[in-house]
Amino acid sequence: MKQKHVVVVGGGPGGLTAGMILAKRGYKVSIFEKESIVGGRNASIVMNGYSFDIGPTFLMMTFILREMFQEAGRNLDDYCKIVPLDPMYKLSFSDFEFFPTPDLEKMKKQIVQHFPGNEPGLERFHAREKIRYDKMFPCLQKDYSTFKEMFSPTLLKALPHLSLNRSLMGVLSDYFTEEKLRICFTFQAKYIGMSPWECPAAFAIMPYIEHSMGIDHVVGGLSKISDAMATIIGEYGGDIHLNTPVKKVCVSGGNATGVELASGDIVNADCVVINADFGHAMSTLFDSSVIKKWTPQKLYDKKYSCSTFMLYLGVDKKYDESHHNIIFANDYKENVEDVITREKLSDDMSVYVRNASAIDPTLAPQGHSALYVLVPTTNMHSKINWDEAATKTYRDKVIKRIMERTSMKDLDKHITCEKIITPADWQNERSLFLGATFNLGHTLTQMLYMRPRNKFEEVNHCYLVGGGTHPGSGLPTIYESSRISSNLIEKFER
Ligand SMILES: Cc1cc2nc3c(=O)[nH]c(=O)nc-3n(C[C@H](O)[C@H](O)[C@H](O)COP(=O)(O)OP(=O)(O)OC[C@H]3O[C@@H](n4cnc5c(N)ncnc54)[C@H](O)[C@@H]3O)c2cc1C
Repeated sequence: MKQKHVVVVGGGPGGLTAGMILAKRGYKVSIFEKESIVGGRNASIVMNGYSFDIGPTFLMMTFILREMFQEAGRNLDDYCKIVPLDPMYKLSFSDFEFFPTPDLEKMKKQIVQHFPGNEPGLERFHAREKIRYDKMFPCLQKDYSTFKEMFSPTLLKALPHLSLNRSLMGVLSDYFTEEKLRICFTFQAKYIGMSPWECPAAFAIMPYIEHSMGIDHVVGGLSKISDAMATIIGEYGGDIHLNTPVKKVCVSGGNATGVELASGDIVNADCVVINADFGHAMSTLFDSSVIKKWTPQKLYDKKYSCSTFMLYLGVDKKYDESHHNIIFANDYKENVEDVITREKLSDDMSVYVRNASAIDPTLAPQGHSALYVLVPTTNMHSKINWDEAATKTYRDKVIKRIMERTSMKDLDKHITCEKIITPADWQNERSLFLGATFNLGHTLTQMLYMRPRNKFEEVNHCYLVGGGTHPGSGLPTIYESSRISSNLIEKFER
């Protein structure tokens, strides 16, 4: 039988996962990536001996990643060194610090110390959210490319557990009376760029997953996962073409027939997998006559995640700060509303600082630190001007906040090199629609069948992978999107 050729547009986690699964299954895989390295937002920045992950730093549900490697006939541990983190992270409020851990007894003790009387809520949280997780997780592994899947027994069984009319914050108030404790279990809404006060209650499975399974680090950074996947694709004879932007998906009679590269070369394929950001792909990769549903206006009218302002700092001092530090704004709710609702920059900002080099010496020269700083910010829907002066002003405010709220009091004196990514950079240089770093929002009306489908609804022989399709943004769900789309390719294209 003739070997089928699959062309993948983009070598991010979605494209690489699909690439290695399909290559193992005997397809000829060709990945075209516009950047000079693989990984997309899950690549690394290497600067003066320091190494930083660009995007993902929290690895949860590592068992899914293990399964993806098994799908590709490989063992994750042969390629990446996984290190569990306990405590998982430090949560800093203006008046105290909290160190969540997957160890139930240790966690209870901390709740007793800081929020006496709330400790029985922890067991209720685990018991109730386990049920929700058990019902919902299978829904995240299924395809919803046809409407009839909305009536599948898996989804119908999960429906009563979705708490459809409630928010994540609302559900956490069932367990804990103290607002700050609820924040410790709902800030995870930011992983998908949403407000805990608006995020659907079903996402209570995110803190449950952390507290029941823990989170992991990958030695060398999470970008090592992308590197490993690229290696495996090569081992199966797949090609990865770097510095090779795709200009268009070629479509004839409603069927994808291959891609046209920026160079003008045409590459024919039996099917095309799109990993490029969904909004970006819809607005640039198809002739306008092809796209009927995801027109520019309809795309613009959708809800998108927030963006992020990023600093990657090479520092000539070793700081004894936690691996993951989340510094909450003094008024967290106001800050979230600035970012999501009012679409303005907060001076009272929340900041995430990752100091992975404290436990991973591969990331910085000896005695130095490689600091990754992420500030949730409004996306480019706000049309905020991120020119050089505005960027510098904001950068200085962020550094000041870190010095005020961590033990890194002399940070500004030890920065030897740095890189900044603003929401405008995410949009203009890294091809993310509206600079929405966590893709299309995860509102109920933009999930399952209502999210852009894995089997792309507008063009035959075309499939989507990555954070913009089902099940959604975040590494574990992105990996699942690739498995779902690979299975669809096996079903319809073999
Ligand atoms: C700052 C940040 C922090 C995050 N933190 C976490 C975290 O801690 N944990 C977690 O699970 N998730 C996290 N995420 C979310 C998510 O896991 C990552 O964004 C992930 O990299 C998205 O993968 P993807 O495959 O959907 O897209 P991408 O990683 O964006 O990959 C798409 C690829 O397509 C390429 N491309 C685009 N257009 C073209 C074209 N025309 N031709 C060729 N190539 C093209 C791009 O260059 C890119 O390489 C984070 C994201 C960001 C931005």
